[in-house]
Amino acid sequence: MKTFSQISPYQSTIRKAVHSNGIGLHTGKRINMTLSPADANMGIRFVRKDLGTITPIPAFMNRVVNTTMATTISEGKASVATTEHLLAAINGLAIDNITIEVDGPEVPIMDGSAGPFVNLLLGAGIRQQKSYRRLVKITREISFRDGDRLISINPYDGFKVTAEINFKHDTIKRQVYSIVLTPQKFIDDLCRARTFGFLEDVEKLQKNGLALGASLDNAVGMDRNGILNKEGLRFDNEFVRHKIVDIIGDMTLLGCPILGHIVAYKSGHSQHLKLMEAIAASPEAWEFVELKKNGQLSVLNKFVARTMEAGNRFLPILTPATSKRPVSAR
Ligand SMILES: [Zn+2]
Repeated sequence: MKTFSQISPYQSTIRKAVHSNGIGLHTGKRINMTLSPADANMGIRFVRKDLGTITPIPAFMNRVVNTTMATTISEGKASVATTEHLLAAINGLAIDNITIEVDGPEVPIMDGSAGPFVNLLLGAGIRQQKSYRRLVKITREISFRDGDRLISINPYDGFKVTAEINFKHDTIKRQVYSIVLTPQKFIDDLCRARTFGFLEDVEKLQKNGLALGASLDNAVGMDRNGILNKEGLRFDNEFVRHKIVDIIGDMTLLGCPILGHIVAYKSGHSQHLKLMEAIAASPEAWEFVELKKNGQLSVLNKFVARTMEAGNRFLPILTPATSKRPVSAR
């Protein structure tokens, strides 16, 4: 009997609405955010509350409009940047359905990690729903190469991520880390790992009116001599752990949980999107499944769909059917 390590068969949402606010990395302005429960099969949706009555933005790969430094998604005139750390927290805690309202063009950066979002979600409480999750089970390797960057996904009975980064900078150098994801492991080993940047890059960006909110309160900052943050690092290998947070956040945009092992070498947001597109273009290399509980274990329940011929039907299959329904901002 095949078991799938601690993957919930059922969809989840949060128990109640919760609020937070913080600085936007790019605008440097304060942004208010509300996370609310959503019905089963509604998926993850962003709403730009400051734009009045508009169509929500589904957290889905075909809504990605920019992967420079952060992952930005949009629908019509509405866009939301810096989605990846919040999406990582949602995915890391195995939450499927949630509505995220923001009153500005980006998710607040908080402390540069997924930790504050995890605390917010745990504070709201997580509620299991009656509907089964539909998971993408990888059955053959799918890979994408981009110069010396390489990302692949392989069959695995769970969700595992291995990442390697390699920077010339002495503080980072080569780091490799691998994790089989469960909510508890996401909380203990990943969520507190912060984003990082080099002082000279930030100075350049800020001269061009970008990254106006970037500071040592929301990133590990480095110059030629080492780390600028007085408090130092949260983990010896905080950099590669954060890379895995980014991968988990971006891969949320596939629209359903993954049974597979992602192996990423020097990847960034752009390569993560390309991997999702490669999965969509390779229906012979995965299938949709549902799991069921057998005691404490999750086991395969049934194949929902084999997609050998589905090819260009992949996107409609994954896109939440309800994603076009407009909602009004409260
Ligand atoms: Zn990040």
